[in-house]
Amino acid sequence: MDFNLTDEQRMWRESVREFCEREVKPRARHVDETGEFNWEAAHKMGPLGLLGLSAPEEYGGAGVDAISAAIAIEELGRACGSTALSIAAHNGLGCGALALFGTPAQKDKWLRPLASGAGRLASLALTEPGAGSDLAGGVKTRARLDGREWVIQGAKMWVTNASLADVIVTLVRTDPAGGTRSMSMIVVPTDTPGLTIAPPEKKMGLHGSPTHAVTYEEVRVPQENLLGEAGRGLAQALQVLDGGRIGIGALAVGLAQAAFEAGRAYAKERYAFGRPIAEFQAIQWMLADAATEIEAARLMVYRAAWLKQGGQPFALQAAMGKLLATEVAERACRNAIQIHGGYGYSSEYPVERIYRDARLMTIGEGTSEVQRMVIARHILANG
Ligand SMILES: Cc1cc2nc3c(=O)[nH]c(=O)nc-3n(C[C@H](O)[C@H](O)[C@H](O)COP(=O)(O)OP(=O)(O)OC[C@H]3O[C@@H](n4cnc5c(N)ncnc54)[C@H](O)[C@@H]3O)c2cc1C
Repeated sequence: MDFNLTDEQRMWRESVREFCEREVKPRARHVDETGEFNWEAAHKMGPLGLLGLSAPEEYGGAGVDAISAAIAIEELGRACGSTALSIAAHNGLGCGALALFGTPAQKDKWLRPLASGAGRLASLALTEPGAGSDLAGGVKTRARLDGREWVIQGAKMWVTNASLADVIVTLVRTDPAGGTRSMSMIVVPTDTPGLTIAPPEKKMGLHGSPTHAVTYEEVRVPQENLLGEAGRGLAQALQVLDGGRIGIGALAVGLAQAAFEAGRAYAKERYAFGRPIAEFQAIQWMLADAATEIEAARLMVYRAAWLKQGGQPFALQAAMGKLLATEVAERACRNAIQIHGGYGYSSEYPVERIYRDARLMTIGEGTSEVQRMVIARHILANG
């Protein structure tokens, strides 16, 4: 892989960064304090292509290459974790599933408005109160055919964007006998009777990215809302997650970069013992380690994106990139707070918020333990 970005990718980064500096970053603190999603910025993202990053242009998307999509999420993450997570989940999970498995008619109906910004956002509901890492064994939400309608009964948990979404792509059990071919994906419009979206969960961070429990009480949708193949829902979900992990990895790189930049700036302006603390080796080493680790994580995430773009297998590299980037973000945020001393612990400075936002990254879209399981499975099978 050529690690130089193309001129087009560089210009894309510049324009996304300029947008984020203007529309996203200045609202990050407000979003965190109030829990309000930044709709004002999101409404302006449609024309820029940020709501349909990988969606084909013929369906209203931007159709940018996978590295450019990662760059966009990274830049959003550098500006505001909450906004970045909601936009990453919209692109990578909700729209991702529709783009991968939708029929032309389904893409026309749902993907086009979502990807172009004419609609609201999209959600993907996999997790349940009793099923996260172990979706295969744990998913209990079920759907049965009644005439030409699916009838859905069950409960999902931790659904990002549910209250902001037009549709929730829902993983359901369609074969009560169980097994890995017993699940399917169904598109559920959020105005369907019987669907209840609970108030947002109270979370440690990412306050401006609402996460909801969702219940399905005899929810009826037309048979043609089946997304992809009946019985292939779990495999489809795992495929969507492979791509989503590049997004979370990129987001983590953006958060780490923001924390690093804040630590570097503070180190130059804070004086102790008669000089800027940036002159102390202990501080320099924290900054040097962060810069090095962020660079490594960024390259790994981009490499996974590059493989994806080329149509090559990328699940292993996506898992490695997500694992490294999210754990690098933890360290970079921790040390940025350390560099700020007492002020780092105060909400007056952004590093406290960035640290809380970053904490989710080693959990969502597959925990670090699950990434290690995926990596181990690959390396043991191929050695
Ligand atoms: C803010 C937020 C947003 C989210 N957004 C979404 C969303 O939009 N859609 C969605 O479907 N889900 C979403 N999730 C859910 C998220 O994907 C799950 O929380 C995650 O996959 C972990 O599942 P769990 O919480 O059930 O943990 P569990 O699976 O119960 O895991 C608990 C612990 O056990 C470990 N563990 C489990 N199995 C093993 C094993 N075999 N070996 C070693 N360790 C293991 C885990 O790594 C973890 O440390 C979101 C979660 C949060 C917090």
